[in-house]
Amino acid sequence: IIGCSIAFNLAKLGAKNVVLLEKEKMTGMGSTAKCSGGIRQQFISPANILLSIESIKIFKNWQDEFPYPVQYALDFRQAGYLFLLHSKSQIENFQKQMALQKKLGVVTVGFVNTHEISTALPYLNISGIVAGVFCASDGVADPASCCAEYEKQAKMMGVQFLTDVKVSDIGANGTTRRKIEVVFTNKGSMLTPCVINAAGPHAAQIGKMLNIEIPIICHRHQTIATPPIKWMKKNDPFVIDYDDYAGQEFYFRPEAGNENTGYQLLLGGHEDGKIQIADPDKYKEKIDQDFILYLADRAMNRFKEGENIQILTKSGIAGLYESTPDALPILGKTEEVEGFILANGFSGHGFMHSPIIGKIIAEIALSGRSSFDITGLGLDNFKTNTRPPAEKAIV
Ligand SMILES: Cc1cc2nc3c(=O)[nH]c(=O)nc-3n(C[C@H](O)[C@H](O)[C@H](O)COP(=O)(O)OP(=O)(O)OC[C@H]3O[C@@H](n4cnc5c(N)ncnc54)[C@H](O)[C@@H]3O)c2cc1C
Repeated sequence: IIGCSIAFNLAKLGAKNVVLLEKEKMTGMGSTAKCSGGIRQQFISPANILLSIESIKIFKNWQDEFPYPVQYALDFRQAGYLFLLHSKSQIENFQKQMALQKKLGVVTVGFVNTHEISTALPYLNISGIVAGVFCASDGVADPASCCAEYEKQAKMMGVQFLTDVKVSDIGANGTTRRKIEVVFTNKGSMLTPCVINAAGPHAAQIGKMLNIEIPIICHRHQTIATPPIKWMKKNDPFVIDYDDYAGQEFYFRPEAGNENTGYQLLLGGHEDGKIQIADPDKYKEKIDQDFILYLADRAMNRFKEGENIQILTKSGIAGLYESTPDALPILGKTEEVEGFILANGFSGHGFMHSPIIGKIIAEIALSGRSSFDITGLGLDNFKTNTRPPAEKAIV
């Protein structure tokens, strides 16, 4: 999705000869295909909060973003994100981060008490919950439609999409500072002065082609769906049952369905100490049986009718978060190689930030700077120890 958004934004800014190379037969088959579709501003890091605020502006005015009529249903719903809190110390932490979110412009975030939670979501069993934090302007959208829209509009503006084409090497030369010259693929080579790395979990591999280390580790995350459930409503929020003191989380959101059948529940999260580091070329894409049991157990306890919830075993998937050491993205030019630009390491938030990331990276590629301040988010900031404080609100 990041590559498609960048390609579209390059064309929108007037760039010619933009080519997107995709190793799969179609775009959107990487991490984007596994995405839960959540969009939130409830972060700890100012950079993530601001990236979300700017992206939400674009999601909200989706048609205005494009020169041609929008074709795919983005299904952007600002039904909110609700964090369920389990302890006083969590309340104190959320109080601090909420103050920052409000200062940066997120006006719709606030505490809710257990009575308000029960009234809004009567199907929840709220045992163990001491309060909630709700942000009404957070929400969900459909990642596949978003990706397809960027691709379609970019193509109509002249971008070439070459699928089934795998980048195998990149050539750069120069005496004082290397400059990008050529990209090699399984289908031939291409001369270019600029390569933008938007390879998601494979970003570090692309860096290696130029002997540049991009600190990305792939973390395996899993989700599964239920059949439609009568009491699940389309505009119910994305809920995060945030018992991070136990090192584990459980989240759920309404998925496909209709008013007659109710909506499917998408369930996800992670178990204490069990996030796996994975190789993007050979990881298990099916959900683990243990994890199905974990999610079933969490659902059983959190929903009043938990015992009646079925789980569609076949819908269980695993995908990768392309995680950086500070869970913040790595953006912009690289000191070592002129013409090599990074849009990597979204650490589980690449879909929600894709609209503004496309703009930022297109501006950098064309003019060297972006209207959004990305100070501290460069690769070279790791070397100089000038990255911002790490993002901790990861699910
Ligand atoms: C279970 C799960 C739930 C998630 N939920 C959310 C969520 O709720 N909200 C959110 O914002 N984010 C979420 N994410 C994270 C989000 O999906 C990713 O951050 C985002 O999709 C990253 O997009 P990308 O374009 O960088 O990577 P990708 O979608 O992986 O795209 C990279 C592309 O590069 C291609 N590629 C790689 N190497 C090469 C090569 N050598 N040559 C040519 N092509 C190559 C790949 O085939 C791929 O299509 C979730 C992730 C997972 C796994």
